[in-house]
Amino acid sequence: MKVKWWFTDWQKYIGQDTGDYPIGEHYTGSQHLNGVPSKAADRPGHIDNSHLVLNGDYNEGEDVEILRTLEEGRDYVLVPLEVWKKFLDWYKGGPALPRKLISQGVLHKKFNVEVYPLFLNLVDSRDNSQSVIRISKEASIHELYDRVCKLHEIEQEKACHMIFFISSFLNLQAHIWDYFNKRKHSMLTVSNQTLEEANLQMDQDILLEVQLDGYWPSGFGMDSTGNELALVPIEPSRSSVTIAGGPTLSNGYSTGFSSNSYQGNGLGSVFADKEDGYDLLSTTTKGDRGGLAGLQNLGNTCFMNSAIQCLVHTPPLAEYFLQDYSEEINKQNPLGMHGELAIAFGELLRRLWSSGRTPFAPRIFKGKLARFAPQFSGYNQHDSQELLAFLLDGLHEDLNRVKQKPYIETKDANGLPDEDVADECWEYHKARNDSVIVDVCQGQYKSTLVCPVCGKVSVTFDPFMYLSLPLPSTVTRTMTVTIFYGDGSALPMPYTVTVLKDGHYKDLSQALSNACCLKSDENILLAEVYDHRIYRYLENPLDQLSLIRDDEHIVAYRLPKSKEGLTRLEINHQCKGKKFMGTPLVTCLGEGPQTGADIHSAVHKMLVPLRRKAYFFLTQEHTSKENGSASEIDVDRPLNSCNPQSEFGNQLMNNMELKQISSGELPFQLYRTDERGLNPSFIEKDSLVRHGQSVKVLLDWSDVEHGLYDASYLEDLPEVYKAVFTVKKTRQEAISLFSCLEAFLKEEPLGPDDMWYCPSCKQHRQATKKLDLWRLPEILVVHLKRFSYSRYLKNKLDTFVNFPIRNLDLSKYVKSKGDTHSHVYELYAISNHYGGLGGGHYSAYAKLMEENRWYHFDDSHVSPVSEDEIRTSAAYVLFYQKVKVEPEIGEPSQAHSPSC
Ligand SMILES: [Zn+2]
Repeated sequence: MKVKWWFTDWQKYIGQDTGDYPIGEHYTGSQHLNGVPSKAADRPGHIDNSHLVLNGDYNEGEDVEILRTLEEGRDYVLVPLEVWKKFLDWYKGGPALPRKLISQGVLHKKFNVEVYPLFLNLVDSRDNSQSVIRISKEASIHELYDRVCKLHEIEQEKACHMIFFISSFLNLQAHIWDYFNKRKHSMLTVSNQTLEEANLQMDQDILLEVQLDGYWPSGFGMDSTGNELALVPIEPSRSSVTIAGGPTLSNGYSTGFSSNSYQGNGLGSVFADKEDGYDLLSTTTKGDRGGLAGLQNLGNTCFMNSAIQCLVHTPPLAEYFLQDYSEEINKQNPLGMHGELAIAFGELLRRLWSSGRTPFAPRIFKGKLARFAPQFSGYNQHDSQELLAFLLDGLHEDLNRVKQKPYIETKDANGLPDEDVADECWEYHKARNDSVIVDVCQGQYKSTLVCPVCGKVSVTFDPFMYLSLPLPSTVTRTMTVTIFYGDGSALPMPYTVTVLKDGHYKDLSQALSNACCLKSDENILLAEVYDHRIYRYLENPLDQLSLIRDDEHIVAYRLPKSKEGLTRLEINHQCKGKKFMGTPLVTCLGEGPQTGADIHSAVHKMLVPLRRKAYFFLTQEHTSKENGSASEIDVDRPLNSCNPQSEFGNQLMNNMELKQISSGELPFQLYRTDERGLNPSFIEKDSLVRHGQSVKVLLDWSDVEHGLYDASYLEDLPEVYKAVFTVKKTRQEAISLFSCLEAFLKEEPLGPDDMWYCPSCKQHRQATKKLDLWRLPEILVVHLKRFSYSRYLKNKLDTFVNFPIRNLDLSKYVKSKGDTHSHVYELYAISNHYGGLGGGHYSAYAKLMEENRWYHFDDSHVSPVSEDEIRTSAAYVLFYQKVKVEPEIGEPSQAHSPSC
């Protein structure tokens, strides 16, 4: 579904209508400006950005507010300022929507265009008036004060005064408070801190207090604002020392936990950061179970909330983080986040497991994420699975018990039994990676590579943290492509090949090359034909095959390989000077200077396979007399011994054109056109062709040419894929989790871009790869690959996957012989994704083990859900726990009887 707007008109105009704007790339305005004919080439009018503007109205020159639901590529493109200026110069219009480039992240700096700056709702304590401030999240607290003072006309000297004294707390004329959820959280005081570092959120409140006659207004925000306040528990008052970021004083923190079973944890000193809203009131409420608090949405953070709820409801992780784990925090690990992620996650988990059902705002956790994983910040929707992968990995590094990773040389496993090799690999892995995440979430799989040439078998054992399973229909696709001979040596022929659905253009080229036995001195050039012309060349080998739709017509030209790049000749066909017909032919001109005569002879050669028999007869007879022209010698197509005179032949015998034909001349009117196939001009034989240029010519077919050549070979190109006749268009068939797992484990050739270096051949080979499960973890995370991403397209599959809630038995997939453990799992959480891309929504289902009940965690809303409702096509990441094998009934318990 493409939204039609000015930019798409412009793309058509310049002939770049490739479907969609490349995702995640910023348009530079210089790509593909030529070379492709356009389907509709009207010059677009004024630039019109009004579809981006909130309520559609704006005043020129003002800071314009944009809609919150915009998606890059679909609704807008980002262009550099210089490009915008050019656009404006050429087309006029507007409005201009300038955006800042901001740098984010601590360990990994990342530059992002801030499409959505922060919206802060400023409450003035003097009259309770409200106003909205739009400001970059990378702006400093200092800048915020500046803006607020200007807005409220706080005297310049006071403002200066204030900034001067800002860090000393003395003589302040104005204060701004973090007033999230209408509660005074902290005074914003660290002037060089960014708003993001201060954990300020989209649309949150901030409170302005101004000193009046040397006095501060008292009590504001504690009891005077009414409605909102009644919903949130009152925060215990904090001293200004705490606010200043100094050492945290005793603040009821550890006493909060004393009401629960996990007391005496001694973590108070470790955790200087506190999650908002942590308070005594909710933890001391009796009779209310933990684990049922929702998470407030902080602006498209449902992906985060969904992932957090799944992890927090993972029983062994909950148990771990509720105990004192401070000894295990690894602050030195260069791969970790100085323990900050583990601390922030632990805090959040503790908060969610303290009793109470008040929705909680995970602002500090989100702040840590923005710090260490800026890829998950911004106002866009992100992928809950990617976040889960990041969190599991980050928590592991922050909690890695190994402080100094030993170097262990990998030994050659040749000849040893798999069991021994697997155990050794696992020992090696554990010597370097030892954390609760490894204990709980990591398993091991066996990977077998076989060289297709020498048969060398290589077996490795690798750890995994989750299984990323393809949905079977997404694995491969068949594609039909018609191959043309660029040397005119044979007729075009359609080939159907099977390729990996997530493969690239080069994979298709490779498959076609194999199918048509491409010679080593040839290349394949792929092109899309639309409306009898080449709409685009598929020249970037790394482009995703998903860019090719099933209803497109793709052709491949076999062309000679060349070092310097030959002049490409594209031949289009036209019928009687009117409309385009057939399929364009592509060939290459020779090396060295080329003339109009060379074009003629190249076209002539290309048409050879299309000749009707009568033509053969005539030319053969003639060329034998005249010793042949260069263009005729190549004809090696056998002549029929029977009388070649056809109906056409008879007609032609009497035709005036006969002489021209038999002399080896092209009967066609041949025109040269511009890049778009327009402005035809007759080609003079002595005209020169500039080297390296691509040349487009137009053949005009009249009855005579139709008589001589059979153009039907150029018609009726097959589509890439034509759905076969189906009996009934029924609801898409459900697939089982097992078939996804089998698709994941099945033997498959490696893609051409991840070839394997065969130690025996000493060459890179496209080996076959087979995976087997070897060691299964206690917690098995299963990711269903519903999303496919490519340069231009994102796609989501809504296929219903039938997964067991109980008794997921994986025994038959576990290949280790000695392993007698149970491989039966039970589901305890699901991360769901609803709707399409970008604008979709995440939630989580999780089971409360104590209650043996399922709940739906939809941001701040938590509601019970029955077990038979949780299996839906929204299921995206599944969380299973291994079932503990109970001693069989009737047998005496092991604990009481000594083993014999
Ligand atoms: Zn080999």
